[in-house]
Amino acid sequence: MAELKVLISRQEIAKRVSELGAQITKDFAGQSIIFVGVLKGAAIFLSDLARQVDLDSTFDFIGVSSYGNRPSPTQELQSGWDSTGEVRLTKDVDQSMKDRNVIVVEDILDTGLTLTVLKKLLLAHQPRTLKIAALLDKPSRRKLPLEGDYVGFKIPDEFVVGYGLDYAEKYRSLADICIVPRE
Ligand code: 5GP
Repeated sequence: MAELKVLISRQEIAKRVSELGAQITKDFAGQSIIFVGVLKGAAIFLSDLARQVDLDSTFDFIGVSSYGNRPSPTQELQSGWDSTGEVRLTKDVDQSMKDRNVIVVEDILDTGLTLTVLKKLLLAHQPRTLKIAALLDKPSRRKLPLEGDYVGFKIPDEFVVGYGLDYAEKYRSLADICIVPRE
């Protein structure tokens, strides 16, 4: 495979995550928050973001996979995830969301399918507020009308890895966000 190219450096990520944390701290002043991370890609973003929010907060995780529609890693790299597929819940949250301020934390907002389904699912828990934090956003790939409330970076339609994001389970622990060249 061709060499990875850094798209967003660890320093840029740290700066932006701290800005998002400050914004959330301001928006929810005097209140508490539950961050709900989408496994596994959002784990690193969640742990950094939660520590930049100066409020009473806790976190939980939710797991999703698409019903047999996720392509092979090579296909995924070439043409992205087939998001006409259904999203299946593999792990539900462990605590009650009722009347709580919930912020869903996702690695990347692509077609919008995953977060549209998750939003519906979490709204059924009757939270007080439900917001979306996405580190990355590929607006050109959107198929469903959904926007993040706290977005780190808008990026072009490239396949990226690092800072939690994988390619066939590799590269999640890279500190920078890198482009996998489509060769
Ligand atoms: P959506 O449902 O918005 O189409 O897709 C969101 C999911 O697709 C993300 O949580 C992520 O797992 C996967 N995804 C989309 N684009 C990329 C990418 O560039 N790199 C990686 N590693 N995963 C991606």
